[in-house]
Amino acid sequence: MTERMRTIYLDHAATTAVDPKVVEAMIPYFTEHYGNASSIYSLGREARKALDEARRTVADILGCKPEEVIFTSCGSESDNLALRGVSLARREAGKGNHIITSPIEHHAVGHTCEHLEEHFGFEVTYVPVDEHGVVDPDDVGRAIRDDTVLISIMYANNEVGTIEPIAEIGKIAKEKGIPFHTDAVQAGGTLDLNVDGLNVDLLSLSAHKFYGPKGVGVLYVRNGTPLLPTQTGGGHERNRRAGTENVPYIVGLATALRLAYDHVESNNQRIAALRDRLIDEITAEIPDAQLTGHPTNRLPNNASFVFKYVEGEAILLNLDLAGICASSGSACTTGEAEPSFVLTAMGIPPEIAHGSLRLTLGRENTAADVDYVMSVLPGIVEKLRMMSPLYAAR
Ligand code: PLP
Repeated sequence: MTERMRTIYLDHAATTAVDPKVVEAMIPYFTEHYGNASSIYSLGREARKALDEARRTVADILGCKPEEVIFTSCGSESDNLALRGVSLARREAGKGNHIITSPIEHHAVGHTCEHLEEHFGFEVTYVPVDEHGVVDPDDVGRAIRDDTVLISIMYANNEVGTIEPIAEIGKIAKEKGIPFHTDAVQAGGTLDLNVDGLNVDLLSLSAHKFYGPKGVGVLYVRNGTPLLPTQTGGGHERNRRAGTENVPYIVGLATALRLAYDHVESNNQRIAALRDRLIDEITAEIPDAQLTGHPTNRLPNNASFVFKYVEGEAILLNLDLAGICASSGSACTTGEAEPSFVLTAMGIPPEIAHGSLRLTLGRENTAADVDYVMSVLPGIVEKLRMMSPLYAAR
């Protein structure tokens, strides 16, 4: 008998398991309090009460008014509503058709900008990032034009974990009177979400990144920010997002967010210590391994790397065989692995960007998980290099 293989989940940036306490809070709203929150009888009023309470919980953590919270179906929808809603509303008001963003945004922002450019005639400026993936607020300031209608810069990057100077960018946007959106999907559950401290007018969240269910998100919209709804129908969410509210999922989102911020500092500290061990040991023990993203100003759970002379996909397959779930920045399309656009925007040459690996820790990970990764990863990289013609020809 071989030793039972362990499964170690190190892909919390992709998604997280739903906390059992969250499931427990959700269940009654499927089976018992299943009314439509718009109905006037008591079953409907129970649902409305839960919805209002969830909205207050989110507002409390964001430091905003409950009516500034819109519940959506996911982070992607929140980003779409922010970008399309503000750009189209402000253009209609004659404010212009120019958007500012970065080249390292998640596709929910990046592809939406492209769509607005290609199909709606908007012009998009991509401010650069430095070698650590950081946007310079002065570059954002310089990119602002008389016809700029929206600025959207992510709070923390999903691949390399770099945290952006959101409050500084927001200050510049505020001085110029331009709405500022941040995609905080990766920051939700670990970083401070106070919207006034961050100087943001719009902020996106997704529950499945902080131990809530998949398929429910938040868009915070500061009162007074012009927003054209992108989904029309009933008057839900104060006419900004039509659709019968998904009460059980919204309760799940609010419960998960509350739980995450109840213990945020101790959780962050414990996880960051594991992250730092991964970073220190991987860069010390594996030759030609390089940390990607900012060395210190990064998400507490993100350890991301490039390894010269190997393919990220091959590392992932071998880690999977060893029971480790991880991720790489390269997207394998039509059999041809594309290097990560985030890494190439940071100036990492495509041939090196191909060898990327992202390990993202979570609540259930322990020091023993780090030990296990260190017992298998160096050998995997070495084995792959031995088979690599690039390594032989280096
Ligand atoms: N934005 C960022 C930074 C993300 O990491 C993700 C998900 O990976 C999204 C947006 C999309 O969120 P959702 O999966 O809820 O649509």
